[in-house]
Amino acid sequence: MSDNYENNDELENKDINNEDNNDNKDEKKPEYEDVCFMCRRPESKAGKMFHLPNGICVCDDCMHKTMDTVSQYDYQNLLNNPTLMNELNKHTNMPGFGFMDFGDMQNTGGIPNSQKIKKKKEKEEKVKPEFDIHNIPAPHKIKAKLDDYVVGQEKAKKIISVAVYNHYKRVATGTMDDIEIEKSNILMIGPTGSGKTYLVKTLARLLDVPLAITDATSLTEAGYIGDDIESVVSKLLAAADNDIEKAEQGIIFIDEIDKIAKKKNTTSRDVSGESVQQGMLKLLEGADVEVPVGASSKNAMVPLTTVNTRNILFICGGAFPDMEEIIKQRLNKQTSIGFDADLKDKWDKDPDLITKVTVDDLKKFGMIPEFLGRLPIICTLQGLSKDMLVEILKEPKNAILKQYQKLLALDEVKLDFDDDALYAIAEKAMEKDTGARALRAIIEEFMLDIMYEIPKDENIGHVTITGDYIRGKGGPMIEIRSEEVPKAIPMKEDFTEV
Ligand code: ADP
Repeated sequence: MSDNYENNDELENKDINNEDNNDNKDEKKPEYEDVCFMCRRPESKAGKMFHLPNGICVCDDCMHKTMDTVSQYDYQNLLNNPTLMNELNKHTNMPGFGFMDFGDMQNTGGIPNSQKIKKKKEKEEKVKPEFDIHNIPAPHKIKAKLDDYVVGQEKAKKIISVAVYNHYKRVATGTMDDIEIEKSNILMIGPTGSGKTYLVKTLARLLDVPLAITDATSLTEAGYIGDDIESVVSKLLAAADNDIEKAEQGIIFIDEIDKIAKKKNTTSRDVSGESVQQGMLKLLEGADVEVPVGASSKNAMVPLTTVNTRNILFICGGAFPDMEEIIKQRLNKQTSIGFDADLKDKWDKDPDLITKVTVDDLKKFGMIPEFLGRLPIICTLQGLSKDMLVEILKEPKNAILKQYQKLLALDEVKLDFDDDALYAIAEKAMEKDTGARALRAIIEEFMLDIMYEIPKDENIGHVTITGDYIRGKGGPMIEIRSEEVPKAIPMKEDFTEV
């Protein structure tokens, strides 16, 4: 503790020196900013501070609140009256503060000497966003940009491009005010690792709108253990740097939405299932929500603000396991009426069965009709095939291979993967059954040795990862840097036995 105090003193001195120097060095801003002793907000958020003795700072708001409360009392009389004093403490909502005798608190060791925190470095100039949401480009342009990053999933990209186009056009022109047009909230269904989150992240980045990603499993009905449903909006507000206007045009992605399906055969209250769906209805539709600023839960010390969710685009995603069974049952029922039964297993082999999902199937799964009604756009993503995985490895703008190539290029080493290696990696990823998510882990495992060994030897100029290396049957091909014809040296021993 005492160490801390010393450090804080040092800090403060440094800061004071800094301030002294300010006159000489053309207005260099101090690196540390004050934090309000009462609401804990820094100067950048709470505005100018009152500086009280013992290095304590209080923001304008808190100071006024205190003064307002204090002025309601006849405090000359009060100081001599312990009962009234207690009463005041209750009313100020500041347990033990009463008249804010900061000197006393200092002596009890309850507060540090310095209330300063280090300021964040000012962000470098922002990169210009690809799209302007106030002048949203046509859907085909949005899809073309998505194509640069997301492999396959053509239908989903098309549906999302149109939905986003319509949504932001409505937002920009404000037509949602006079004509009741449904919001284009989206329900995304696809197996794990098929790119649901990635698609939404890419979209938010291209549009330069704030994005909040939440897991539906962490949400519970208000009052129960878990996050309140409204906490998704405060996450978005935080993502928008507390800029309410920006947050109101953002995107909220709620993952694992299938986990809040109605629980079957339950007698107790379904606080994390159906109730969450019910609770989300007004958010999805558009409502004024009171959210805490700079915190995830409401309490007396956190200021609240109102965010309107009308223009927030909600995208819900989930894998919906066993959904195929439900679809199959429905389709089989249809075909068995009046026709032959030999078609029964017709759907078993259909890899794109999930694309045939209907609202009725989702209801059967456990989603309530009101909830589905507020997610009018349903899009499905396919499970990734081996070819798609190979493409994901090398094609997207920030493909994993390109990232490693860039890293090694900094050491002036050329990195290549032969086709056989790419297929071997894809095969390994398919075995894990977690979609493209497995790719990075696999590559990282094989690249560890390469990234460790290559910088050791400055003569190495070119590394080729082969299928045999991935399958554990050989080493990568290493070529020595030279003006003459490069020669290939297999380096099995060096690389496989560490
Ligand atoms: P989920 O569908 O479970 O939300 P993610 O979107 O989190 O899956 O995908 C995990 C990772 O896999 C992403 O970060 C991305 O790098 C990669 N990925 C998945 N699908 C694709 C795709 N279609 N195109 C490019 N990369 C993808």
